[in-house]
This record gives sequence, structure tokens and C-alpha cells, in this order.
Amino acid sequence: MSGLQFRSTRDGRLTAGFGDALAQGLAPDGGLYVPTEWPEPQPAALGPRESLAGIGAKLLAPFLAGDPLAPALPDIAAEAFDFPAPVVALGNGGRLAVLELFHGPTAAFKDFGARFLAACLSRLRGPASRPLTILVATSGDTGGAVAAAFHGRPGIEVAVLFPKGLVSPTQERQLTCWGGNVRSFSVRGTFDDCQRMVKQAFLDRAWQEERALSSANSINLGRLLPQAVYYAAASLAVFRRHGEPASFVVPSGNLGNAVACIWARRLGLPIGQVVLAHNVNRTVPDFLESGEWRPRASIATLASAMDVGNPSNMERLRAFYPELSEVRSAVSAYVVDDESIRARIRIGYQELGQVWCPHTATAAEAYARLPAERRESGRWVLVSTAHPAKFREIVAPLIGREVAVPESLAELFARPSECAEIGADLASLRAALRDSRVSEDRSRG
Ligand SMILES: *Cc1c(COP(=O)(O)O)cnc(C)c1O
Repeated sequence: MSGLQFRSTRDGRLTAGFGDALAQGLAPDGGLYVPTEWPEPQPAALGPRESLAGIGAKLLAPFLAGDPLAPALPDIAAEAFDFPAPVVALGNGGRLAVLELFHGPTAAFKDFGARFLAACLSRLRGPASRPLTILVATSGDTGGAVAAAFHGRPGIEVAVLFPKGLVSPTQERQLTCWGGNVRSFSVRGTFDDCQRMVKQAFLDRAWQEERALSSANSINLGRLLPQAVYYAAASLAVFRRHGEPASFVVPSGNLGNAVACIWARRLGLPIGQVVLAHNVNRTVPDFLESGEWRPRASIATLASAMDVGNPSNMERLRAFYPELSEVRSAVSAYVVDDESIRARIRIGYQELGQVWCPHTATAAEAYARLPAERRESGRWVLVSTAHPAKFREIVAPLIGREVAVPESLAELFARPSECAEIGADLASLRAALRDSRVSEDRSRG
């Protein structure tokens, strides 16, 4: 008996259960998996003293019902949601708060999804399973979070692809400091090239025969779905305290975080408006304005984890809102240039004592640009996607002091780093992976 099914955003006849959708990453036609139906909203079941892990187990249970992974869900949630996601009110006497998603091992929100996916995939493997290769394209934070989540897991190897020279030195260290079952590749190209290589590998028959592949990008359902959990927890916390729904400003690149917020709203959580804060990679804002979907090459910005010219999860957003008018009423989007990001980092520090990473500052700037009546008519939550210490090269000069580094990051920074440079094509990746094939006994526990 199968429970809730997921279907491809392209050919809706291609369906899979939860575990299969995770293992496949991308649907066979290159589409992304989305739920075929939505469970009945039951926010009342999420009691006031429920932990993040408890909320995760209850919220996600209907999606796993009937799947072999279902009995393990409470353990999976406990493993993935074992650090806090506090909603911190800003001391401006106002209606604004920050959802801090950076208290995990690599100090970015992607730790939640990556750890959930790792907890699931390692349970899906049987003792006789082929070694699994996780391919991950990263514009910065994904690679570190995924590497941390899978590091040392037996039978799984990770290949991290990042655009050479386009991630911050601090981020690069996080991508290359692992060793063992994690390999890092510095690709002579952009993030979009890295993402294209991963997608091509999935559609390439020879690759499929050579190794069991999975993706850990936010195209993987197992990364996206758990992100709805912190929106559930945060919106319930706001609602209990103020009796009003929470509206979120989400720093957006590939749109995984924003789609998770919209899915959480669909699950009946008290979520009001959703605002997308983009850097000058304006494919989504332009689409909302013109109705034309025109993906383009990405542009390097200070908020580098959002340098995406062809956001994958747009397919999920459009599957959810087939009509343009629906998307337009569901979300609004702002474009923030580097100069405004810098200015907002300074203002956040001077006026609110906040030290923001460039992505969080993008959200703060988008909030500041909302029409006053929208700001005043809601309880607003800025989604803080990374700890500022990950971008200290940018942030410290703007606020005129050093950024304190959390202990987990300091440990990573102290490790030796290792990576190989490759061209932006599948053949280069294939050759490099063959060279550096990691045997199971070398992966560290
Ligand atoms: C990945 C990332 C984003 C963008 O999230 P998407 O889900 O790709 O929209 C924003 N901020 C930081 C710090 C990130 O790492």
C-alpha cells in the first residue's frame, strides 16, 4: 500500500512515494517532485510546548504515511532538528522580528534540510546497496551544509561542485575542509554551470549505470519539505504571542526556502504574506512583472548564495500556482543591489545593533521598501539565512568591527582544505570522480 504520492512538475503521471522521490532527487523527466495532494491542515495538533523536532515529526507524518521511512520519522526529525530556530524580536518597539536559521553546524539554514535528507538517505540504504554518490552544486552554503550532514556516513560519497572564485574565502574553506567521503571540485564556470552539470548527470544513462546518484540540491524533496517545519514553528510562536499571522521576507535564490514557506501556509499554518528578497539576479521579479519566464546567466553579488539566474524551484512555484495571477497574489518580490545591501548592513548595526549577513540584509532592505501600510498591517519576520561570520570579509568593514565566529565555524576553519579544479562539463567531472573514487573504508566515521 502506498500513501501520499509525489509527482513530477512536468509529467504528472510520473509519481513516487516519499523515499523513492528522495533517492531519485530529480524525477525521470527532469521535473521536480511535488505532493499530489495536501494533507488536511491540523495546526492545532502542534501544541505550545512542542519542540522543533516534535513539530517536524507531526507536520511531516502525512507526507511519509505508507512509506518505508515512516516509522523512523521521529528519529529522523530528532536528528535533523536538534538545534534551535528562534524568532528574535527586534528592539524597535515595532512589529518586526528575525527568524534565526543559522544555529546549525555550518551556520546556515541549509543545515536543516541537508541533515534531514542525510538522515533519510542513510536509512534508505540496505546493507547490500551500491555506494551512493550525492552530487551537489553550490553557490556557497549548500555544499558546506550537505558535506557536514553526510560526512562520515558509510556507503555514501559526496561530490561538491562550486564555481571557482565565486564563493567567499570563508565559504570555500567550508566546502573543502572535509576529506574522507567528501570531495570538492572547483569548477571553471558559474553556479548555473554547476547546476546544469548535476542535472545532466542525472539524465545521462551511462552515469546511472556507473553509480547510484542522488542530488542534495534544493531540487530534492528531502531538503525542501523539512524547511516547512521552521516556518510552522515560527508562525505558531508569533501567532500565540500576538494573535496575528506571521508574514515572512525570504532571501531568495533558487526559491527552495520560499516554496517551503508557501507549502507551510498551504498546510494551514498562520502565515500571512510572503515577500521574496532577491539580489540583482532578477529573473523571478521580472517574471512577476512581465509574465515572461526568462532565465539568464547569474550575476555575482555580495549575497552570493542567491546568485541564481535560473531558479530551479520556480517549477514548483508554478506547479502550485498555475495561473500568473495566482503567483502574483501569493508573493511579491524585490530586487536589491549590492550598494543597498551594504547600506542596510550598516543601518542594521547602527540602528538595531544587528549584525546581518548580506542575504539577511537583502531581506531587511526588501522589508524597508514595502509600502508603509503593508509593513504596519502585519507581523513581519525577516528570515536570517546565514550567520554573518560566514561573510565576515564583507560585513566587518561595514560595521567597523570584527564579527564573532561561532565555535562550530571556528572548528571548520581550522581544518586543512583540499579540492580539485575541473572544467564546466560532465566529462571533466566524470574523469575527476573516477580518479578520486573514495572507497568505503576510507570514509571517516
Ligand atoms: C541558499 C541560500 C539562500 C537562498 O535560498 P534558496 O532556497 O536557494 O532560495 C539565501 N541565503 C543563504 C545564506 C543561502 O545559503
